[in-house]
Amino acid sequence: MYDIIIIGAGTAGISAYKEAVKHTQNILIINQGPWDTTCARVGCMPSKVLISTANRMHDIEHADEVALSSTGTIDTSQVMPHVRKLRDQFTAATIKDVDRWNPEHKISASAKFINENTVEAAGQRYQAKTFIIAVGSTPNYDTDWKNILKDRLITSDDIFELTELPQSMAVIGSGVIAIELAQAMTRLGVKTTVFARSRKVGALTSPELQQVAQDVLSQELDIRFEVLPEHVRLENEKVILNFKQNNQDHTVEVDYVLSATGRRSLLSSLQLENIDPTFADIKNLKINDASKQLADYPIFIIGDAHTQNPIQHIAATDGRNVVQNCLNFPNIQTLDAPSPLSIVFSAPEMAIAGLSHKQLLQKNILFATGKVSFETQGRATVLGKNKGAAEVYVDMQSRKLLGAELFVESAEHMAHLLSWIIAEDLTIDEVLTKPFYHPTLEEGLRTALVRAFKQL
Ligand SMILES: Cc1cc2nc3c(=O)[nH]c(=O)nc-3n(C[C@H](O)[C@H](O)[C@H](O)COP(=O)(O)OP(=O)(O)OC[C@H]3O[C@@H](n4cnc5c(N)ncnc54)[C@H](O)[C@@H]3O)c2cc1C
Repeated sequence: MYDIIIIGAGTAGISAYKEAVKHTQNILIINQGPWDTTCARVGCMPSKVLISTANRMHDIEHADEVALSSTGTIDTSQVMPHVRKLRDQFTAATIKDVDRWNPEHKISASAKFINENTVEAAGQRYQAKTFIIAVGSTPNYDTDWKNILKDRLITSDDIFELTELPQSMAVIGSGVIAIELAQAMTRLGVKTTVFARSRKVGALTSPELQQVAQDVLSQELDIRFEVLPEHVRLENEKVILNFKQNNQDHTVEVDYVLSATGRRSLLSSLQLENIDPTFADIKNLKINDASKQLADYPIFIIGDAHTQNPIQHIAATDGRNVVQNCLNFPNIQTLDAPSPLSIVFSAPEMAIAGLSHKQLLQKNILFATGKVSFETQGRATVLGKNKGAAEVYVDMQSRKLLGAELFVESAEHMAHLLSWIIAEDLTIDEVLTKPFYHPTLEEGLRTALVRAFKQL
């Protein structure tokens, strides 16, 4: 009987294995498919390569923002090979690491549960005292559309395999992945139409910042809010989408449809109903969010398989931390959670540090909101990136900084500073004693902080 069996070798499973192997050699990790992680192969990394190239192209084409004029055309024929070249470097680094592991610890197969102590993989049964489930998730798409559109309906699993940039694309969805990829494609000259079921872009929860983000992104992106295509068909290698907008019938013709309508957990592939019949519907799984334990079983579920925050660093951290719960079972601890931080690599970037506006309202916390627009902010104007806004949230009683939402150039860096400050439990009075260099975007943050301070 193994001490731990890990199912899934993505970011969470790999991180769990690397921690577990420090404590026991009596372990097994079972993975279906490639061992190079969703993040490196079809997620965080290739998407950021595409976005960086797209943003550079946008800056060249908009050099007038800093009083330059440029002529000539930009050759985009090497963009997709470049994405794959860098992607292959990232996946190779992960595979090199995995290849060093003891081969007896690894099985390449799909696992399913036989009972709470037994799994089956490649026709063999394996027993363990504890299990870590890290099977991740997979993109949603409409199967009827897939039957009609065949390889013209793609998801984030397929987009980085395109040999060249298409001329046109429809993106279904306006969440994080949809907005990142749609804006990158638009900036690379792909005529992109976004169909958004609701009136929401990306991850921001503050109604005011959502409005700013919708307005700013709509200047650049063709976003059809509260509109979804009603019919799709394939005609001469082109996809024809029919939709209604303002009671008018419209048609769009594109090369590809990118379905970016969220992801579904792969927990359903594990036959958890063999542990408890009610687990046939994974919505019935009772998973403790703090310890990651499944009901009272010696089973822990981490990463994108079950989370409100499908974020790489959380998958990695939980993978590391959950190992102690396995080794000490049944003495279960709450896992240490890092200060919340999420980033969307749109332009301007979106970020949430600490508690979001929505979470503060849900928790009935009395808070002051300090707001700042970056439209006339000094450094943002110098950079020619004077768009967006930010909000900081301060507890009315304790005066502590609780959270912030940002939609601004370089939000990724400011959000890190803010989340670290929040983790340190600092009051607004202490935060305002910190240096704010001149002229920087952080001075804009200071304006928001001072505005919150004045309301206390
Ligand atoms: C396009 C895109 C962009 C993203 N960008 C970012 C970003 O910028 N920043 C960020 O923080 N996050 C980003 N993410 C999210 C991030 O990639 C995920 O949070 C992370 O990869 C989750 O890791 P995981 O270990 O839970 O799952 P995965 O890495 O998907 O690993 C799960 C593994 O389990 C295997 N498996 C599934 N079922 C079974 C089974 N029955 N038996 C055995 N093995 C099984 C799978 O094949 C896979 O190998 C992005 C995701 C996408 C799709």
